[in-house]
Amino acid sequence: MDLVLTGGKVFCADKALTVAEALAVRNGRIAWVGSSAEAAEHVGTKTRLLELEGRTVLPGFQDAHCHPAEGGMELARCVLNDANSREACLAAIAAYAADHPELEWVSGSGWSIDSFEHGTPSREDLDAVLPDRPAFFDNRDGHGAWVNSRALALAGITRETPDPSGGRIERDAEGKPQGTLHEHAMELVRKLLPPTTAEEWEAGVLRAQDTFHALGITAWQDARIDHPLHLAAYRAVAERGELTMRVEGNLLWERGSGEEQLEKLVAQRAQGSVGRLRIRGAKIFVDGVLENFTGALLEPYVGTDNYGISMFDRTELERAVVVLDSHSFQVHMHTIGDAAVRDALDALDAAMRANGRRDSRHHLAHLQLVHPDDLPRFAGLGVIPNVSPLWACHSGYVDELTEPFIGPERSARMYPFGSLVRAGARLAFGSDWMVSTSDPLPQLEVAVTRVSPETRELPPLLPDEALDLPTALRTFTAGSAYVNFLDDETGTIEPGKLADLVVLDRDVLDRGSGPIGDARVLLTLVEGEAVHADPALGW
Ligand SMILES: [Zn+2]
Repeated sequence: MDLVLTGGKVFCADKALTVAEALAVRNGRIAWVGSSAEAAEHVGTKTRLLELEGRTVLPGFQDAHCHPAEGGMELARCVLNDANSREACLAAIAAYAADHPELEWVSGSGWSIDSFEHGTPSREDLDAVLPDRPAFFDNRDGHGAWVNSRALALAGITRETPDPSGGRIERDAEGKPQGTLHEHAMELVRKLLPPTTAEEWEAGVLRAQDTFHALGITAWQDARIDHPLHLAAYRAVAERGELTMRVEGNLLWERGSGEEQLEKLVAQRAQGSVGRLRIRGAKIFVDGVLENFTGALLEPYVGTDNYGISMFDRTELERAVVVLDSHSFQVHMHTIGDAAVRDALDALDAAMRANGRRDSRHHLAHLQLVHPDDLPRFAGLGVIPNVSPLWACHSGYVDELTEPFIGPERSARMYPFGSLVRAGARLAFGSDWMVSTSDPLPQLEVAVTRVSPETRELPPLLPDEALDLPTALRTFTAGSAYVNFLDDETGTIEPGKLADLVVLDRDVLDRGSGPIGDARVLLTLVEGEAVHADPALGW
């Protein structure tokens, strides 16, 4: 054998939830799984032996919904993800701008709507630190942007500018643009930013790959590929043999472009198989998010007649899904509100009736609100709930920016992970990085406790919707592998599968080892080769 790991807890993530003690790897694949007592038989003169000392081994984590290429590029810009107040954001922006006098535009991302009154930062605040240069900052969830007066002026946005379709320009009491742009209104300014280069895209992919491997992740599903340099960067990195991540890519189905875009998507998909890269999916944004009233609801937001924004009318959505399904795309839909979820399930139902059923593994991402009538439809249609576990806890987003506007009845069924599992659905987890951290361990903590590791003193959010730890671990490995079409080769620890593995610093199955969010990744293997190793391990 090339490698033997022994003396640990090997969580196999198979259906039986087997926990073994040791495993052996040969030629990049798992060759044997068993007890520590038997492991010695597999150790030869050339075998590398790793004593686990009780630590946990899991299949490599798989992130079923994230935006790694853009995230990797963002890491080179002004990152506000750790700035959790208005003052901290402005200080970080001022420091970054001072460090980068060469930049024509100052841009970045990661501000949080709960750092600002009404979730809408003002142009005046940004003008105070950036009076001369235009500035553009995406918020953490990617559904809004903060701009300064210079940027608004360059884009020609005034009190007279109408809201674009699918978007909204936040305005002050006098009707003047206030500084926050929602959804499609962001494009009015974003299109003026200097274009990104091929080198920046490739560096973004590689930076994200390093970041994810350090967190134990060995496969990701890129939820949206719509820039020509994005696919080209993946291909270039894969062709050079530098892609150690298994990548499933989704091409964007653009609203308003209709069926004419199909030919282009089919041609791009045909280019998408190099090394560990596969393109199989098409992504559709069905709605926005609840915090800015763009999530689509079956009943209006409290005290309004606003049902949110459906990006497509129902027949248009159904037509898109039927056509994509008939061309064997895996359809991946962003669905936050209960109306978006219902429209998406109806469209998938129509596609299966029109085209027949195949092993399509269509999936709906995020699922903040699902009407109880729709819960059993996931199992019935074989549609995968691809949920973002980190969001299912009390936070400013939930308590201040969502619950008051959807009311108590709907608030009592937010992020219904437990209900979906009880209704027979096959869950997958996706971080939505850089919207949220890509670290699977805090995400797992929220999945099992419904409490954020950052605010462990808070009560759980709807504890009946929590998952038990083995189910959550299996969701982040085998569950995500299934929606990534990688379950034949990865996602569980079984003889014959690829040795994509992660070693954690403790026995996470032992309740005495503390919250799983405190655990750390020591070693990440792809086909038996280390792609991340903590120096403490002496690898
Ligand atoms: Zn996303």
